[in-house]
Amino acid sequence: MKNHTPARVYVVIPCYNEEEALPITAKTMEKFFDDMIKDGLFAPDSRMLLVDDGSKDKTWSVISDLVSSSEKFEGLKLAHNAGHQNALWAGMNKAAENADAVISIDADLQDDINAMRGFMNEFYAGADIVYGVRSKRETDTVFKRMTAEMFYKGMAKMGVETVFNHADYRLISKRALSELLNFTEVNLFLRGMVPTLGYKTAKVYYERSERTAGESKYPLKKMLAFAVQGVTSFSVKPIRMIALLGFIFALAAVGIGVYALISLIAGRAVPGWTSTMLSIWLIGGVQLIALGLIGEYIGKIYTEVKRRPRFIVEEHLTHK
Ligand code: UDP
Ligand code: MG
Repeated sequence: MKNHTPARVYVVIPCYNEEEALPITAKTMEKFFDDMIKDGLFAPDSRMLLVDDGSKDKTWSVISDLVSSSEKFEGLKLAHNAGHQNALWAGMNKAAENADAVISIDADLQDDINAMRGFMNEFYAGADIVYGVRSKRETDTVFKRMTAEMFYKGMAKMGVETVFNHADYRLISKRALSELLNFTEVNLFLRGMVPTLGYKTAKVYYERSERTAGESKYPLKKMLAFAVQGVTSFSVKPIRMIALLGFIFALAAVGIGVYALISLIAGRAVPGWTSTMLSIWLIGGVQLIALGLIGEYIGKIYTEVKRRPRFIVEEHLTHK
Protein backbone atom coordinates (compact mmCIF):
# COMPACT_ATOMS: atom_id res chain seq x y z
CA MET A 1 0.00 0.00 0.00
CA LYS A 2 3.04 2.28 -0.08
CA ASN A 3 4.33 4.46 -2.90
CA HIS A 4 1.12 6.17 -3.84
CA THR A 5 0.42 9.86 -3.84
CA PRO A 6 -2.58 10.60 -1.66
CA ALA A 7 -5.77 10.98 -3.68
CA ARG A 8 -7.98 14.03 -3.60
CA VAL A 9 -11.12 12.60 -2.08
CA TYR A 10 -14.55 14.14 -1.96
CA VAL A 11 -16.86 12.80 0.70
CA VAL A 12 -20.39 13.50 -0.46
CA ILE A 13 -23.03 13.76 2.27
CA PRO A 14 -26.71 14.19 1.40
CA CYS A 15 -28.59 16.06 4.11
CA TYR A 16 -32.33 16.34 4.47
CA ASN A 17 -33.52 18.07 7.63
CA GLU A 18 -30.31 17.17 9.41
CA GLU A 19 -29.85 20.27 11.60
CA GLU A 20 -29.53 18.02 14.66
CA ALA A 21 -27.11 15.45 13.29
CA LEU A 22 -25.01 17.68 11.05
CA PRO A 23 -23.03 19.63 13.70
CA ILE A 24 -21.98 16.36 15.37
CA THR A 25 -21.23 14.72 12.04
CA ALA A 26 -19.19 17.70 10.83
CA LYS A 27 -17.09 17.76 13.97
CA THR A 28 -16.38 14.03 13.82
CA MET A 29 -15.61 14.19 10.11
CA GLU A 30 -13.30 17.20 10.44
CA LYS A 31 -11.18 15.40 12.99
CA PHE A 32 -11.28 12.25 10.85
CA PHE A 33 -10.11 14.19 7.79
CA ASP A 34 -7.07 15.44 9.73
CA ASP A 35 -6.18 11.87 10.66
CA MET A 36 -6.66 10.60 7.13
CA ILE A 37 -4.48 13.40 5.74
CA LYS A 38 -1.83 12.73 8.39
CA ASP A 39 -1.84 9.03 7.51
CA GLY A 40 -1.39 9.83 3.84
CA LEU A 41 -4.73 8.32 2.85
CA PHE A 42 -6.42 11.58 1.82
CA ALA A 43 -4.66 14.42 -0.02
CA PRO A 44 -4.68 17.68 1.99
CA ASP A 45 -7.05 19.31 -0.50
CA SER A 46 -9.72 16.64 0.05
CA ARG A 47 -13.19 17.96 0.77
CA MET A 48 -16.54 17.21 2.28
CA LEU A 49 -19.42 18.16 0.03
CA LEU A 50 -22.60 18.70 2.01
CA VAL A 51 -25.66 18.52 -0.20
CA ASP A 52 -28.76 20.12 1.24
CA ASP A 53 -31.66 18.22 -0.32
CA GLY A 54 -34.22 21.02 -0.02
CA SER A 55 -34.38 20.83 3.78
CA LYS A 56 -37.16 22.62 5.59
CA ASP A 57 -35.16 23.19 8.80
CA LYS A 58 -31.89 25.07 9.39
CA THR A 59 -29.69 22.57 7.59
CA TRP A 60 -28.52 25.07 4.97
CA SER A 61 -27.50 27.69 7.52
CA VAL A 62 -25.58 24.99 9.43
CA ILE A 63 -23.83 24.11 6.16
CA SER A 64 -23.04 27.76 5.34
CA ASP A 65 -21.49 28.23 8.78
CA LEU A 66 -19.39 25.10 8.31
CA VAL A 67 -18.19 26.30 4.91
CA SER A 68 -17.08 29.65 6.37
CA SER A 69 -15.41 27.91 9.31
CA SER A 70 -13.16 25.63 7.28
CA GLU A 71 -12.00 25.10 3.72
CA LYS A 72 -12.65 21.37 4.19
CA PHE A 73 -16.37 21.95 3.67
CA GLU A 74 -18.25 22.71 0.51
CA GLY A 75 -22.00 23.14 0.27
CA LEU A 76 -24.50 22.46 -2.49
CA LYS A 77 -28.12 23.43 -2.05
CA LEU A 78 -30.88 21.80 -4.06
CA ALA A 79 -33.87 24.05 -4.64
CA HIS A 80 -36.36 21.34 -3.72
CA ASN A 81 -36.41 17.99 -1.95
CA ALA A 82 -35.24 15.72 -4.76
CA GLY A 83 -34.75 12.59 -2.66
CA HIS A 84 -31.69 10.82 -1.33
CA GLN A 85 -30.62 9.23 -4.65
CA ASN A 86 -30.90 12.47 -6.59
CA ALA A 87 -29.13 14.43 -3.87
CA LEU A 88 -26.29 11.91 -4.01
CA TRP A 89 -26.16 12.17 -7.78
CA ALA A 90 -26.04 15.97 -7.61
CA GLY A 91 -23.17 15.78 -5.13
CA MET A 92 -21.22 13.20 -7.11
CA ASN A 93 -21.72 15.17 -10.28
CA LYS A 94 -20.30 18.27 -8.62
CA ALA A 95 -17.46 16.38 -6.96
CA ALA A 96 -16.47 14.74 -10.26
CA GLU A 97 -15.03 18.08 -11.38
CA ASN A 98 -12.12 17.83 -8.94
CA ALA A 99 -12.06 14.50 -7.18
CA ASP A 100 -9.78 11.50 -7.78
CA ALA A 101 -12.28 9.45 -5.81
CA VAL A 102 -15.69 10.09 -4.29
CA ILE A 103 -17.04 8.50 -1.14
CA SER A 104 -20.74 8.76 -0.34
CA ILE A 105 -22.03 8.46 3.21
CA ASP A 106 -25.21 9.40 5.08
CA ALA A 107 -25.33 12.45 7.27
CA ASP A 108 -26.23 10.51 10.42
CA LEU A 109 -22.91 8.58 10.45
CA GLN A 110 -24.66 5.27 11.01
CA ASP A 111 -21.97 3.87 8.78
CA ASP A 112 -18.58 3.49 10.43
CA ILE A 113 -16.31 6.20 9.04
CA ASN A 114 -13.23 4.12 9.85
CA ALA A 115 -14.23 1.80 7.02
CA MET A 116 -12.97 4.62 4.76
CA ARG A 117 -9.44 3.53 5.66
CA GLY A 118 -10.26 0.17 4.11
CA PHE A 119 -11.86 1.96 1.13
CA MET A 120 -8.69 3.93 0.51
CA ASN A 121 -6.40 0.94 0.85
CA GLU A 122 -8.50 -0.97 -1.67
CA PHE A 123 -8.50 2.08 -3.93
CA TYR A 124 -4.72 2.37 -3.81
CA ALA A 125 -4.52 -1.37 -4.48
CA GLY A 126 -6.37 -0.75 -7.74
CA ALA A 127 -10.09 -1.01 -7.00
CA ASP A 128 -12.35 1.41 -8.85
CA ILE A 129 -15.41 0.70 -6.75
CA VAL A 130 -15.38 -0.21 -3.07
CA TYR A 131 -18.64 -1.26 -1.40
CA GLY A 132 -19.22 -0.71 2.28
CA VAL A 133 -21.06 -3.79 3.50
CA ARG A 134 -22.77 -4.10 6.88
CA SER A 135 -21.55 -7.12 8.73
CA LYS A 136 -24.27 -6.95 11.39
CA ARG A 137 -27.57 -5.26 11.77
CA GLU A 138 -27.93 -5.51 15.50
CA THR A 139 -28.70 -1.85 16.02
CA ASP A 140 -31.53 -1.88 13.49
CA THR A 141 -34.99 -2.84 14.65
CA VAL A 142 -36.17 -6.39 13.88
CA PHE A 143 -38.65 -4.89 11.46
CA LYS A 144 -36.00 -2.92 9.55
CA ARG A 145 -33.78 -5.98 9.41
CA MET A 146 -36.54 -8.21 8.07
CA THR A 147 -37.74 -5.74 5.48
CA ALA A 148 -34.18 -5.08 4.40
CA GLU A 149 -33.51 -8.80 4.03
CA MET A 150 -36.67 -9.19 1.93
CA PHE A 151 -35.58 -6.22 -0.12
CA TYR A 152 -32.20 -7.65 -1.12
CA LYS A 153 -33.55 -11.15 -1.72
CA GLY A 154 -36.53 -9.86 -3.70
CA MET A 155 -34.25 -7.70 -5.81
CA ALA A 156 -32.08 -10.67 -6.67
CA LYS A 157 -35.19 -12.67 -7.66
CA MET A 158 -36.28 -9.85 -9.91
CA GLY A 159 -32.93 -9.95 -11.63
CA VAL A 160 -31.51 -6.74 -10.21
CA GLU A 161 -27.89 -7.24 -9.32
CA THR A 162 -27.18 -5.63 -5.96
CA VAL A 163 -24.53 -6.18 -3.31
CA PHE A 164 -26.10 -7.84 -0.27
CA ASN A 165 -26.25 -5.55 2.76
CA HIS A 166 -24.63 -2.68 0.92
CA ALA A 167 -26.50 0.60 0.89
CA ASP A 168 -25.01 3.78 -0.52
CA TYR A 169 -21.80 3.87 1.47
CA ARG A 170 -19.16 3.38 -1.19
CA LEU A 171 -16.08 4.70 -2.91
CA ILE A 172 -16.02 5.27 -6.63
CA SER A 173 -12.97 6.27 -8.62
CA LYS A 174 -12.83 9.19 -11.00
CA ARG A 175 -12.99 7.04 -14.12
CA ALA A 176 -15.81 4.81 -12.87
CA LEU A 177 -17.75 7.89 -11.78
CA SER A 178 -17.36 9.58 -15.14
CA GLU A 179 -18.82 6.45 -16.77
CA LEU A 180 -21.66 6.34 -14.26
CA LEU A 181 -22.48 9.95 -15.01
CA ASN A 182 -23.10 8.93 -18.63
CA PHE A 183 -26.22 7.08 -17.53
CA THR A 184 -29.04 9.37 -18.56
CA GLU A 185 -31.97 7.78 -16.75
CA VAL A 186 -33.79 10.00 -14.29
CA ASN A 187 -35.18 7.22 -12.06
CA LEU A 188 -32.08 6.52 -10.06
CA PHE A 189 -31.33 3.36 -8.18
CA LEU A 190 -27.62 3.66 -7.53
CA ARG A 191 -27.28 0.32 -5.76
CA GLY A 192 -28.35 -1.39 -8.94
CA MET A 193 -26.58 0.95 -11.34
CA VAL A 194 -23.08 0.89 -9.85
CA PRO A 195 -22.66 -2.92 -10.09
CA THR A 196 -23.49 -2.76 -13.81
CA LEU A 197 -20.36 -0.66 -14.37
CA GLY A 198 -17.96 -3.52 -13.87
CA TYR A 199 -14.33 -2.59 -13.13
CA LYS A 200 -12.32 -3.99 -10.26
CA THR A 201 -14.42 -3.90 -7.12
CA ALA A 202 -13.83 -4.65 -3.47
CA LYS A 203 -15.88 -4.91 -0.29
CA VAL A 204 -15.11 -3.53 3.11
CA TYR A 205 -17.14 -4.82 6.05
CA TYR A 206 -18.20 -2.66 8.98
CA GLU A 207 -20.73 -2.56 11.75
CA ARG A 208 -23.60 -0.15 11.45
CA SER A 209 -24.48 1.86 14.50
CA GLU A 210 -27.40 4.03 15.48
CA ARG A 211 -28.18 7.48 14.20
CA THR A 212 -26.12 10.21 15.92
CA ALA A 213 -29.13 12.49 16.25
CA GLY A 214 -32.49 13.26 14.72
CA GLU A 215 -34.73 10.58 13.31
CA SER A 216 -34.83 8.44 10.19
CA LYS A 217 -35.79 10.26 7.01
CA TYR A 218 -36.85 6.93 5.56
CA PRO A 219 -40.23 5.95 6.95
CA LEU A 220 -41.90 2.74 5.72
CA LYS A 221 -43.71 4.59 2.95
CA LYS A 222 -40.46 5.88 1.46
CA MET A 223 -38.84 2.47 1.90
CA LEU A 224 -41.61 0.76 -0.06
CA ALA A 225 -41.48 3.39 -2.76
CA PHE A 226 -37.73 2.85 -2.95
CA ALA A 227 -38.15 -0.91 -3.36
CA VAL A 228 -40.72 -0.44 -6.12
CA GLN A 229 -38.41 2.08 -7.76
CA GLY A 230 -35.58 -0.42 -7.56
CA VAL A 231 -37.52 -3.13 -9.33
CA THR A 232 -39.34 -1.03 -11.89
CA SER A 233 -36.31 0.99 -12.90
CA PHE A 234 -34.23 -2.12 -13.45
CA SER A 235 -36.21 -5.09 -14.39
CA VAL A 236 -38.76 -6.10 -17.00
CA LYS A 237 -39.46 -9.32 -15.11
CA PRO A 238 -42.82 -8.20 -13.71
CA ILE A 239 -44.05 -7.68 -17.29
CA ARG A 240 -42.69 -11.07 -18.32
CA MET A 241 -44.70 -12.65 -15.53
CA ILE A 242 -47.92 -11.59 -17.27
CA ALA A 243 -47.04 -13.65 -20.32
CA LEU A 244 -46.04 -16.55 -18.09
CA LEU A 245 -49.38 -16.31 -16.31
CA GLY A 246 -51.08 -16.37 -19.72
CA PHE A 247 -49.36 -19.62 -20.62
CA ILE A 248 -50.34 -21.13 -17.29
CA PHE A 249 -53.97 -20.11 -17.92
CA ALA A 250 -53.90 -21.54 -21.44
CA LEU A 251 -52.51 -24.80 -20.08
CA ALA A 252 -55.15 -24.86 -17.39
CA ALA A 253 -57.75 -24.31 -20.11
CA VAL A 254 -56.73 -27.61 -21.69
CA GLY A 255 -57.15 -29.41 -18.35
CA ILE A 256 -60.46 -27.72 -17.64
CA GLY A 257 -61.55 -28.53 -21.19
CA VAL A 258 -60.92 -32.23 -20.71
CA TYR A 259 -62.78 -32.13 -17.39
CA ALA A 260 -65.72 -30.24 -18.92
CA LEU A 261 -65.96 -32.65 -21.85
CA ILE A 262 -65.89 -35.66 -19.55
CA SER A 263 -68.66 -34.08 -17.47
CA LEU A 264 -70.63 -33.45 -20.65
CA ILE A 265 -70.27 -37.05 -21.84
CA ALA A 266 -71.12 -38.39 -18.39
CA GLY A 267 -74.24 -36.28 -18.58
CA ARG A 268 -73.40 -34.32 -15.41
CA ALA A 269 -73.19 -30.96 -17.15
CA VAL A 270 -76.00 -28.41 -17.29
CA PRO A 271 -76.55 -27.26 -20.93
CA GLY A 272 -74.27 -24.32 -21.73
CA TRP A 273 -71.87 -24.97 -18.91
CA THR A 274 -69.21 -26.74 -20.98
CA SER A 275 -68.93 -24.05 -23.63
CA THR A 276 -68.92 -21.24 -21.04
CA MET A 277 -66.25 -22.97 -19.00
CA LEU A 278 -64.04 -23.56 -22.02
CA SER A 279 -64.32 -20.06 -23.40
CA ILE A 280 -63.62 -18.34 -20.06
CA TRP A 281 -60.34 -20.14 -19.60
CA LEU A 282 -59.26 -20.02 -23.19
CA ILE A 283 -60.04 -16.35 -23.66
CA GLY A 284 -58.45 -15.52 -20.30
CA GLY A 285 -55.25 -17.27 -21.34
CA VAL A 286 -55.19 -15.68 -24.78
CA GLN A 287 -55.74 -12.24 -23.32
CA LEU A 288 -52.94 -12.61 -20.84
CA ILE A 289 -50.56 -13.86 -23.52
CA ALA A 290 -51.50 -10.89 -25.68
CA LEU A 291 -50.90 -8.52 -22.77
CA GLY A 292 -47.57 -10.16 -22.10
CA LEU A 293 -46.61 -9.71 -25.74
CA ILE A 294 -47.45 -6.01 -25.58
CA GLY A 295 -45.51 -5.91 -22.34
CA GLU A 296 -42.45 -7.31 -24.08
CA TYR A 297 -42.48 -4.35 -26.43
CA ILE A 298 -43.08 -1.89 -23.61
CA GLY A 299 -40.14 -3.48 -21.82
CA LYS A 300 -38.02 -2.89 -24.93
CA ILE A 301 -39.12 0.72 -25.16
CA TYR A 302 -38.35 1.16 -21.53
CA THR A 303 -34.79 -0.16 -21.72
CA GLU A 304 -34.36 1.78 -24.97
CA VAL A 305 -35.39 5.18 -23.61
CA LYS A 306 -32.95 4.86 -20.73
CA ARG A 307 -30.17 5.24 -23.29
CA ARG A 308 -27.66 3.54 -21.08
CA PRO A 309 -24.18 3.15 -22.53
CA ARG A 310 -23.97 -0.21 -24.33
CA PHE A 311 -20.59 -0.98 -22.85
CA ILE A 312 -17.76 0.56 -20.93
CA VAL A 313 -14.17 0.14 -22.05
CA GLU A 314 -11.81 -0.50 -19.20
CA GLU A 315 -8.55 -0.72 -21.14
CA HIS A 316 -7.25 -0.80 -24.70
CA LEU A 317 -3.86 -2.40 -25.27
CA THR A 318 -1.63 -1.72 -28.28
CA HIS A 319 1.82 -3.01 -29.05
CA LYS A 320 4.58 -0.45 -28.46
N1 UDP B 1 -31.91 12.07 2.74
C1 UDP B 1 -31.96 12.97 1.67
N2 UDP B 1 -33.17 13.25 1.10
C2 UDP B 1 -34.35 12.65 1.49
C3 UDP B 1 -34.27 11.69 2.55
C4 UDP B 1 -33.05 11.42 3.15
O1 UDP B 1 -30.94 13.53 1.27
O2 UDP B 1 -35.39 12.95 0.93
C5 UDP B 1 -30.61 11.77 3.36
C6 UDP B 1 -30.56 11.89 4.88
O3 UDP B 1 -30.29 13.22 5.27
C7 UDP B 1 -29.43 10.94 5.23
C8 UDP B 1 -29.56 9.87 4.17
O4 UDP B 1 -30.33 10.42 3.12
O5 UDP B 1 -28.16 11.55 5.10
C9 UDP B 1 -30.20 8.58 4.70
O6 UDP B 1 -31.39 8.87 5.39
P1 UDP B 1 -31.75 8.20 6.78
O7 UDP B 1 -30.53 8.09 7.63
O8 UDP B 1 -32.87 8.95 7.38
O9 UDP B 1 -32.23 6.76 6.32
P2 UDP B 1 -32.12 5.38 7.15
O10 UDP B 1 -30.69 5.25 7.61
O11 UDP B 1 -33.06 5.50 8.29
O12 UDP B 1 -32.50 4.34 6.16
MG1 MG C 1 -29.66 6.61 8.62
